[in-house]
Amino acid sequence: MCQPVPFEVDFGMIVKAIESYRANLRNAVRGLWSGDFDYFWFYDQMMLSIERGFTQAWYEGAAMYGVKPSELTDEERNALRSEIIKETNFIDALGQAVLAKNRASGGKLEPLYARAELWVAAYNRVRTLSSTYAAADQKHVWNLGRAKEHCRDCARYNGKVHRMSVWRKYGAIPQSYELYCHGYKCTCSLSPTNAPATPGRPPSPTGK
Ligand SMILES: [Zn+2]
Repeated sequence: MCQPVPFEVDFGMIVKAIESYRANLRNAVRGLWSGDFDYFWFYDQMMLSIERGFTQAWYEGAAMYGVKPSELTDEERNALRSEIIKETNFIDALGQAVLAKNRASGGKLEPLYARAELWVAAYNRVRTLSSTYAAADQKHVWNLGRAKEHCRDCARYNGKVHRMSVWRKYGAIPQSYELYCHGYKCTCSLSPTNAPATPGRPPSPTGK
C-alpha cells in the first residue's frame, strides 16, 4: 500500500475540524483579552481545546492511512499524550501575553489572533506526526508550501524522499517548532511517493 486512502476520510470534515480548533483558541484568547473571563477560565478552555483538537488531528492523520482510533498502538497513544502535554506547557506564556495586552490596557485583539495562528499550525503538525506512525515504512516527499518565503530548513528538505519513520526520527516534520521558522506560516507537507529514496538521512532542523 503506497498511497493514502483518502476515500475513507472526509476532507470537508478535516477543514471544519481545524476551523473549529482555530475558533476555540480565538474564543479563549478573546475571553481573556476582553476581561469577560479570568485566567483560570482561559487555562481550562485552552486545555480542553488542545486535548480535543490534537486528538482529532491524530485520528485524521491515522485515518488517512486506514488506521482507526481503536487500532492505535500504545506507542501512538503515548506520542499523542506527550504532544498534548508539551502544548499545554505553553498556555501560561500565552495567557500572560494576552493579559499584558488586554483590552483594558489598550491592547488590540488582532496581534493576539496572529499569535494564536502558531497554535493553529500545530493541528497540521500533529496530523502529520500521526501519519508518520500510521505510514511509518512508506516513502514520502517533502513538498514546499505555497508561502512566498521558506525557511532554510524547509528549503533544504524540499523534494527529499524518506520513509515517514525516518522523517520523524530526525525531527523533520512540517509546521514543527524545531524548524528554523518555528513552523510559523509553514504550509509544507509530506506526501506519499514511489520516487527513489534520498540517500542518507535528513539533516536535523536548526530552529531549537
Ligand atoms: Zn515549511
